[in-house]
Amino acid sequence: SKKIYAFEEGKQDMKDILGGKGANLSEMMRLGLPVPNGFTITTEACIEYLEQGEKLTDDLLNELKKYIKGLEDKTGKAFSSKENLLLVSVRSGAKISMPGMMDTILNLGLNDENVESLAQVTSDARFAYDCYRRLLQMFGSVVYNIPMEAFEGYFESYKKENGYQFDADIPAEGLKVIVNKYKEIYVEEAYKQFPQDPITQLTEAIEAVFKSWNNERARIYRDLNEIPHDIGTAVNVQEMVFGNSGDRSGTGVAFTRNPATGEHKLYGEYLLNAQGEDVVAGIRTPKEIETLNEQMPEVYKAFVDVTKKLESHYKDMQDIEFTIENEKLFILQTRTGKRTAKAAMKIAFDMVEEGVVSKEDAVKMVDVKSIDQLLHPAFKPEALAQAELVSSLGLPASPGAATGKIVFSALDAKVQAEAGESVILMRPETSPEDIEGMIASRAIVTTHGGMTSHAAVVARGMGKCCVTGCSDLEINTKEKYVKYDGKTLSEGDVISVDGSTGKVYIGEIETTNAERSDEFETFMGWAEDVAHLKVRMNAETEQDIQAGYAFNATGIGLVRTEHMFFGEERLIEMRRFILASSHEERVSALSNIVKYQTEDFESIFRLSGERPTIIRLLDPPLHEFLPKSAEEVNAVARQIVVDKALLERRISELHEFNPMLGHRGCRLAITYPELYEMQTEAIIGAALKLQDEGIHANAEIMIPLVSTVEEFKILKDIVKKKADTIMHKQNKTIAYKIGTMIETPRACLIAGALAEHSEFFSFGTNDLAQLTYGFSRDDAGKFINEYINRDILAVDPFQTLDVDGIGQLIKMTVENAKQVNPQIKIGVCGELGGDPKSIHFFNTLDIDYVSCSPFRVPGAILATAQSQV
Ligand code: ADP
Ligand code: MG
Ligand code: MG
Repeated sequence: SKKIYAFEEGKQDMKDILGGKGANLSEMMRLGLPVPNGFTITTEACIEYLEQGEKLTDDLLNELKKYIKGLEDKTGKAFSSKENLLLVSVRSGAKISMPGMMDTILNLGLNDENVESLAQVTSDARFAYDCYRRLLQMFGSVVYNIPMEAFEGYFESYKKENGYQFDADIPAEGLKVIVNKYKEIYVEEAYKQFPQDPITQLTEAIEAVFKSWNNERARIYRDLNEIPHDIGTAVNVQEMVFGNSGDRSGTGVAFTRNPATGEHKLYGEYLLNAQGEDVVAGIRTPKEIETLNEQMPEVYKAFVDVTKKLESHYKDMQDIEFTIENEKLFILQTRTGKRTAKAAMKIAFDMVEEGVVSKEDAVKMVDVKSIDQLLHPAFKPEALAQAELVSSLGLPASPGAATGKIVFSALDAKVQAEAGESVILMRPETSPEDIEGMIASRAIVTTHGGMTSHAAVVARGMGKCCVTGCSDLEINTKEKYVKYDGKTLSEGDVISVDGSTGKVYIGEIETTNAERSDEFETFMGWAEDVAHLKVRMNAETEQDIQAGYAFNATGIGLVRTEHMFFGEERLIEMRRFILASSHEERVSALSNIVKYQTEDFESIFRLSGERPTIIRLLDPPLHEFLPKSAEEVNAVARQIVVDKALLERRISELHEFNPMLGHRGCRLAITYPELYEMQTEAIIGAALKLQDEGIHANAEIMIPLVSTVEEFKILKDIVKKKADTIMHKQNKTIAYKIGTMIETPRACLIAGALAEHSEFFSFGTNDLAQLTYGFSRDDAGKFINEYINRDILAVDPFQTLDVDGIGQLIKMTVENAKQVNPQIKIGVCGELGGDPKSIHFFNTLDIDYVSCSPFRVPGAILATAQSQV
């Protein structure tokens, strides 16, 4: 089958086989934009190559010949021509963009002979040899794995020795010396000569790109971004245009809107007399795109036109790479631009206002995972005003407020972060090798490079605080120090980085919670309109509940009542309860706790108002309330005046081999109904009290860990009787519900029968995952990663729903329950309630809400909306 497409044969929606870069190059050509000619070798060819012994097939080689011929005809150039030499770039590009992850080779086709003729034809030997030294460097590093430093180290020392400040200052003669040295480096490092034949160069480069799909940093990036490992990369072969051919040429990158703030304004950088990644690599500090308007107004105008065309065509912010050759503009790439959460929200908001996209589309333009960036803290303005500046010239590359200890290498960052330190990575610039260190750091600070440098792009993608281009700092990574303003900081010194202003400070600075913008509120409103599932929170403390409601949770999906037994005085009474030998003693101990719990529920209901609030009755095994160490036992025996021997006996009686499978949840209340009676008294008491103030609490009492209908019926009766008694005593009534948590596989299997008696179900996904797999939540960590790495499990079932197993169990449960009791309210609480992928599945079921921790509520709302559109 066809493995190569000329750019004019492809289009936008062929990303699967052409990769993102290739498909967009084709699309731009269709749109009539100035794109240099070329062709794309498909991702299928890459997969075939990797699967079939890493050899280019004859079929592919023949097709390649045909397309090279085609390219030569179209351009009027040829690999073998002296007057019209064809040079190409070889560029990788997978379906999903992986910035900086795969390597590009420029100026391919040059050799010792034709570099001379290129110098003569162009009358520019500096240019010709500059191209050649770049080719040698990129080819050597990508194809023969010669370390970049081998070339760069020599290059830098040559510049220094001869007093050249910038790359472009080196004259032709100097570049020739460098070229010769580079060729020696090939022999020293790779025991190979640089191949002189252009076709050999091309096929070796294609193979190297194919293989780079499996290099380590590509794998790390894919793991981090959940990109499949088996989709392969396409290879684009494209006629070169030259940004390094003098001062009327250059290269640059621009975003159609500001990727950090979202501001609707062209945002970019360029360098004159430069090629390829010079801008991104931070070799010289680039110029702002507006300056181009002064230097080459015609080109600037043409470029602005292109950016408008591309944005309205793709209906999203674009990240565009361009090159100028002798004042002629070429577009080399466009893709949907990576952006911070703040920018994503602003762009989505503005594009709705501008009439470019609908609300439904806008909801999809913000990545759920990025949303908590918006909730990140910022430095307190008062504290900032007091703080001592380390750098004030940096660029606000990716927002956030981070404090940590300085480290100077990715490896140190990784090691120290693993040891529990908060670290900040400081480097002159970053490169793809630094990815893991960047992940491990709280923030990244660089001295070179602009807003589109590697550090900036990658940090924004990760939602990590980043400041680039701190030209007032001198970072020495070898000797591990930073010089600023005549002073020095060393490894381990604490600094604070403000990614929203680009400033860096000494020491730790106090933070405050982020303020939410009007755009955030409006945007989240759209998400709520679009969504079908409601989102509640799992919360019990005042602070958490307030946070969840501030994020528009529609109620509480889980109040865990355990902690209500842990206050100092309550714990004494709880222990008395556990050690009591009669019903009367137990009731008396609990009667002291009930007052506290009533107050707790009162404050919860007050915050909830009329929003539904699920209260789970006591769930953990009793031994959790007893002392563990010998000293603690002594202290407790004294404190509650009980025989030490009795206490020790009780502790050993309550000891369980598998407490998670033991005497807990509803099983406890079957033995000690007083417990749930006391909690019911507190819940109903609190609700009645609020009723007097005109607040109609909407209590939903939930019985945990049920696995038989009898358990539920017995306990429901107990709760009801107690509630009736309390209401009767006060001669008042209130409405409340009684339901069950569905967290054992047996409860799922008898869902129909349970639904007859239960007014609501809430899936407790943590226990349900544990019991369905038979994986102990507390111990599974020891082997689950191995299972995931070896693809025995696709996901950690405690973090993301196992759709095929547990998902089907939940689906069946919902269907059976609804059949018997169409009114039953069903929700999901536990970790999975806030996980976007799991929510996607839950949204396909006939349920009412998901519930998650308060700070995950906005993400969950957005995820419910996205799964609806
Ligand atoms: P990446 O995926 O890392 O962005 P690219 O394939 O886009 O890699 O190549 C990096 C840079 O190389 C481009 O931004 C562009 O400046 C330069 N480049 C690639 N192909 C060409 C070409 N045909 N002519 C001129 N420059 C090119
Ligand atoms: Mg690159
Ligand atoms: Mg690119």
